[in-house]
This record gives sequence, C-alpha cells and structure tokens, in this order.
Amino acid sequence: MSSHLTADERGIILPCPACGTANRIVYAKIAQQGRCGSCKTGLPHISAPVEIESPASFSALVSGSTLPVVIDFWAPWCGPCQMMAPEFAKAAAMAAGTAVFAKVNTDEHQDIARQFRVQGIPAFALVKSGRLAAQTSGFQPAERLLAWARQG
Ligand SMILES: [Zn+2]
Repeated sequence: MSSHLTADERGIILPCPACGTANRIVYAKIAQQGRCGSCKTGLPHISAPVEIESPASFSALVSGSTLPVVIDFWAPWCGPCQMMAPEFAKAAAMAAGTAVFAKVNTDEHQDIARQFRVQGIPAFALVKSGRLAAQTSGFQPAERLLAWARQG
C-alpha cells in the first residue's frame, strides 16, 4: 500500500485489500487487526501515512491512538519535504502495527504547526498517549527516523 490513508474524528479509513470497502479503524483499536465489515477478510496493519484533513481528526488521532503517532510537518513548496515523503512512507510501512504515521500540511493547518512550535520543515513530532514525547527536524532516511521514534 503506497497511497495515503485518510482519517476522521473516529478513526482511520482503511480500504479492504480484498473488496475495496472502506473500513474505519477506530483510534482505541488502532493496534488490532480487524476484519472487513463487508467481506470479513482480515485487514492488514496500517502501513501508509495518514493525510490529516482537519484539526478535529488530528486531535482525535493524537489523543485517542493507542499506538505512538509520528507526525511529518511538510508543505508542497518545500524541496526537502518532497525528498522526505518516500522515506516517511517507507518508515510507516516498516513500523506497521507498532506506530502510526501522519502528515500535516503546514500551509493548510497553521494552527497545528503553531501548537507544535514548528519552525523549519520538514519537522517531526512523536506523540505517545496524547503527550508530545520528542521532536526533530530536517531530512532523514527512514531508518534514522525510526531509530529516533523508538528512542523517544
Ligand atoms: Zn472486504
């Protein structure tokens, strides 16, 4: 799965790999693997970055997720952010089932960026149990980002 996922105020929307039905993985059960509501196929772990579309879904994710959340602050005009995108996606795939990866467009969500005191991008934040655990910034390969997230 290489494309981005979306989320709402209740959970992450995960398309069933077998039938394509959109299943909502609620934040409180984000570490579990459920079954497709339509065809009952077992759903995979969340292995792609989640594109944040609203401040409400962002708040629900970081406060409700039972897994650590790694946030990528980026913007479309930022060259290093473009270079970082495939690394972030790779890290999300490598950490499937152990952490959730979310992307915040700082042009669209300046309030979220301000809340995290983001200065330069790309910037990253690690949130555990609703609390900010670590922050870093600048381009980094997937392996280095994961090592940072696991120490945080
Ligand atoms: Zn299905």
